[in-house]
Amino acid sequence: MVVRVAIDLALDRLFDYEVPVALERKLAVGQLLSVPFGRREARGFAIEAGDAGAGAGGAPRPLKPVSGIVDETPFFSPSLLELVKKVAAYTASPLESVLRAALPAAVLRRNARAKEQLFVEPGGNGPAGDGVTPRQRWLAEQVARLDGGWLSQLCAELKTTPGSMRTLERLGLVKIAARARRRDPLAGRRVLPTRPLPLNDEQSAALAAVRGATSPVLLFGVTGSGKTEVYLQAIAAELASGRGAIVLVPEIALTPQTVQRFASRFGGRVAVLHSALSDGERYDEWHRIRAGEARVVVGPRGAVWAPVADLGLIVVDEEHEPSYKQEDVPRYSARDVAVLRGAVEGARVVLGSATPSLESWMNVRRGKYALAAMRKRAGAGALPPVGLVDMREERELSQSGGAIFSRALLDAVRIRLERGEQTILFLNRRGYSRSFACAACGAVAECPACGVAYTYHRADRCLRCHVCGGWAELPAACPKCGATSFDCRGIGTQRAEAALGKCFPRARILRMDADSTSRRRSHDDILSAFRRGEADVLLGTQMIAKGLDFPNVTLVGVLNADASLNLPDFRAAERTYQLLAQVSGRAGRAELPGEVLVQSYDPEVPTIRAAAAGDFERFAADELKAREAAFLPPFCHLAVVGLKSKDLRLAGAWAGMYAASLGNLEGRGGLVVSDAMPSALEKADGWYRWQIVLRAPSASAIVRAWRWIASARPVPKGVRVHLDMDAVSLM
Ligand code: ADP
Ligand code: ZN
Repeated sequence: MVVRVAIDLALDRLFDYEVPVALERKLAVGQLLSVPFGRREARGFAIEAGDAGAGAGGAPRPLKPVSGIVDETPFFSPSLLELVKKVAAYTASPLESVLRAALPAAVLRRNARAKEQLFVEPGGNGPAGDGVTPRQRWLAEQVARLDGGWLSQLCAELKTTPGSMRTLERLGLVKIAARARRRDPLAGRRVLPTRPLPLNDEQSAALAAVRGATSPVLLFGVTGSGKTEVYLQAIAAELASGRGAIVLVPEIALTPQTVQRFASRFGGRVAVLHSALSDGERYDEWHRIRAGEARVVVGPRGAVWAPVADLGLIVVDEEHEPSYKQEDVPRYSARDVAVLRGAVEGARVVLGSATPSLESWMNVRRGKYALAAMRKRAGAGALPPVGLVDMREERELSQSGGAIFSRALLDAVRIRLERGEQTILFLNRRGYSRSFACAACGAVAECPACGVAYTYHRADRCLRCHVCGGWAELPAACPKCGATSFDCRGIGTQRAEAALGKCFPRARILRMDADSTSRRRSHDDILSAFRRGEADVLLGTQMIAKGLDFPNVTLVGVLNADASLNLPDFRAAERTYQLLAQVSGRAGRAELPGEVLVQSYDPEVPTIRAAAAGDFERFAADELKAREAAFLPPFCHLAVVGLKSKDLRLAGAWAGMYAASLGNLEGRGGLVVSDAMPSALEKADGWYRWQIVLRAPSASAIVRAWRWIASARPVPKGVRVHLDMDAVSLM
């Protein structure tokens, strides 16, 4: 027998080995094997096994034999292996890189093992009468009553010492042995059990849709409509029929509250996988899943690979979140892998969101996904009214020319301060990507072909479209209002904090952005301080827009809705809609009614109007029309070919050459190739970055072009190149 092995070096090829007769019966695909490789021993996964000479690598030369099986229980089931292969092919990533992404590193570490601790078991009666003191007799009885326990814990509880326990052991009253002790990420948390809530009509209909579905279901439910309760009951139904479930949540939403909701309902059957776990916890959680002890897995994107047997359901909560996309090799989307896994394993898939991605929405329109809609809030509190504030009027009134806060918003904040209620103010920073906005009206120059805001490139002082690669010279005057000054920085949170402090010297203001969280206090510290009422106003970036629930917040202000709308990204409108819907969901979640104020220099823009009205369907219809006209996703697949080098000239030259060569394939399978362009982030960590955008009706047309160029034009040392299929970020 010959086995084909993926060796853990990301070589993007498989190696054949002879299976010794002694191992033939034990060997199975998905196992971790130990194999000779060059002059050393390597480890790798068995991918395929078959008769000698069957595989393409059935070379006549004698094959080296497998040295051993590291773990007889396969790390990958046959269906997970199939999934891994599909994802590798779709994203054009080495199989080995997908295998590695699918397994927590902690599980594969050579010295990884379960933690052992001493466990005390009741042992029998020991010698009768003499030789056993009453105290010892009592201790042994307690051990029996408690049905044993960890040595350290028992000593603490029974006020004794390990030495005394050892004496009991010598007397034959107890047995002490090492046992694997689970490192439990939920340990020490008080988990109160909850019961299923009686569902309202919309929830019942949604649950029925999920239970009866033959395709993935898009659960389109406004913030607070009770999507989580629907997930919980759908999972309970799977458990009742012996099947398991995976719940994916964006990393940022994996707060203790989220985990608690699942743990409260399903107790010890829940496993949590996320980046904040210690290696030991991750190792134990993963093994509890593989062993079938944990049947419900909650985690961010990597949890989509969890080895849940008899998988019945995968939930992708907030399915539109960009964090489901891995921005490193292998560049997969966990949402798309979830859908694929559902198909491979015959599991139901639910994608939930108040603001679905246009990709998923389009899949509903195409009949690929079923739709379940929940338009009402389930618990207390109505969705708050959203008011638009026209900043152009404010600008005329303000002497300095650059108003950050409108009078309407300042009045609203003042009222909250007087009432002792809290306010969240939200400011979208432009980050490193620069749009070239008119300082007077906020208008941004856009590519006429793609409708995407141009990116300002300081190096060659021009504007570039990051979809088609087209460029334009800097305008002398704003095409909308004629003003001649431009601004590519936007307002920072620090400046906003200072300005607010001037208006309300006594207000307690907390600021949260990338700077404030890396220093001094963590994200969690700031949020818990705000929750405890230690501040009146929380001012921050995107970070504060998500999944947080503050009962005393009755006002949410968005300082610059336009900044997000004007980002040079074809998803700018979609992101803006999502953001506005999300921040509105933050106000008035408890008994107190909420209010949302959105400041904009262009409140007539359909996206902002639709967001204020909470009309997702209207927004989606408009935006899809624009996407279709410009041949953008979801009407095509879009991939970025990224090239980088520490040598400025090399990077540009190779990008130009790739674009020219790929250009020769244009039209094949509908392929559209952009010009080569410097990335929006032109230089990072000493690397000069360039990119080429490929679009085609099918992903396979793009992968074919990529495979061809990667083999026909191998880049020299010093140049790196990658493909990002279905790119989420064009920066
Ligand atoms: P979503 O996930 O859609 O944002 P949640 O599941 O967080 O919504 O639900 C919002 C609130 O409504 C929660 O406090 C939840 O306990 C409550 N809730 C959900 N379903 C019901 C129900 N059927 N009856 C009463 N309250 C409910
Ligand atoms: Zn363009």
